[in-house]
Amino acid sequence: MQLTELSQRLADLGAKPQHIGRITRAWLQGKALDTGTKHQKTENFLPLTVREGLPAIAASLEQLARVSAEHPGADGSSRLLVELADRQMVESVLLPRDGLCISSQVGCAVGCTFCMTGKSGLLRQLSSAEMVAQVVLGRRRRAVKKVVFMGMGEPAHNLDNVLEAIDLLGTEGGIGHRNLVFSTVGDPRVFERLPKQRVRPALALSLHTTDAELRQRLLPRAPRIDPEQLMELGEAYARSIDYPIQYQWTLLKGINDSQEEMDNILRLFKGKFAVLNLIPYNSLKADDYQRPDGERIVQMVRYLHSRGVLTKVRNSAGQDVDGGCGQLRARAVDVVNTSRLQGNRGKGSRIVTADR
Ligand code: SF4
Repeated sequence: MQLTELSQRLADLGAKPQHIGRITRAWLQGKALDTGTKHQKTENFLPLTVREGLPAIAASLEQLARVSAEHPGADGSSRLLVELADRQMVESVLLPRDGLCISSQVGCAVGCTFCMTGKSGLLRQLSSAEMVAQVVLGRRRRAVKKVVFMGMGEPAHNLDNVLEAIDLLGTEGGIGHRNLVFSTVGDPRVFERLPKQRVRPALALSLHTTDAELRQRLLPRAPRIDPEQLMELGEAYARSIDYPIQYQWTLLKGINDSQEEMDNILRLFKGKFAVLNLIPYNSLKADDYQRPDGERIVQMVRYLHSRGVLTKVRNSAGQDVDGGCGQLRARAVDVVNTSRLQGNRGKGSRIVTADR
């Protein structure tokens, strides 16, 4: 279901725009659709035909997404394995300080070599309502005032649906526009569309290296935009919304933690309205990539910071519970596949039974 279909179904029941607005706001707050206000009971506001039709609509919304498993982390985050109506799985992560990271696709076509989600390829797009439903699930657990589109998927590859979700979250959802973060590897369509939106979100760009050739190897199916050119496009958007771009840099030992990279960063970031987020890679056992040593990370941050690049180290939320892009889902599927190979001996597990 798309968000426009939700409005249409309500309109078909006889709901006027003010009725649709109130029902949608109730849903977005994780409340019952017929929740009234302090000053006006539902029966004095919503037409009878709408009230009678609400249970069926509520049932459809409940089916969009449900929490199949929850993994609290020691850092205050909590990873939610979310099952969609067709039993596909995505991840959402409740972040410390009222944030929520949501997924925009099942799988991803970009195929970043350090990402679990990329290994599966794109399985399907999420609808705008499925993205908003993740926020609803999050809000039923705790306050959500910031939503980042950094879970599974490349939002630029599902642009219409992502923008529809952002529009609703930034209006009826009551989330500040700069508290909505569109994260992308950098697609020209993003730079055309975002400035024209009613709700213009903050932007995070996955840079990962200043070396165009290395970037192409690490992000094999990302659009071929030179890092320097990508930063120019980012800079124009940052100035237009008066808010800095967050450049994401997954730190891989011996790959993109060299002195040469640091010096190129200094050159490219000079005068830019930007923040650099270094995200030390979250290594799994027998992984091709490793995270740099803590000492090296500290050195890099000091070097860049002291030379004027606003640099932060961001650990993937909940990494003590297999954090990092798509790793929780990958583990769940892995458990399923393993249990199938073993004659379904693992069927008692919550994660196993939830998978298709
Ligand atoms: S890191 Fe993001 S863009 Fe790259 S494959 Fe994973 S989900 Fe896709």
